[in-house]
Amino acid sequence: MGITVKAEQCTGCGRCVDICPGDLLALLPQEGKAYLRSARDCWGCMSCVKSCPEGALERRLPFSLAGYGASLRPKVHETHIVWTLRYPSGEVEEFAVKTREHPGRA
Ligand code: SF4
Ligand code: SF4
Repeated sequence: MGITVKAEQCTGCGRCVDICPGDLLALLPQEGKAYLRSARDCWGCMSCVKSCPEGALERRLPFSLAGYGASLRPKVHETHIVWTLRYPSGEVEEFAVKTREHPGRA
């Protein structure tokens, strides 16, 4: 299990580092890019993936869910999240999940 950092999209803002409940992410000292310190300890909560403003993180899915190499990426909007599921075949599926009933309210 684990997440993948797309280094070319990472700006080194550190949001994912701050948000990981397991303290599993860090920034490389030289490059200033995020990396996962221990993939085996990542339980795939997706907090880091959803927090990244650059879309630089994606979640690798277990083989049993969508096949080897499938990935899931979210795009967070004010009232919903659009999830993009990419299958190993290259096929892409998108689905939206509402996160807030009334925009502007906590
Ligand atoms: S998916 Fe969750 S546990 Fe894994 S690195 Fe991201 S925030 Fe940490
Ligand atoms: S939140 Fe995204 S852009 Fe910021 S350090 Fe993490 S991966 Fe890089």
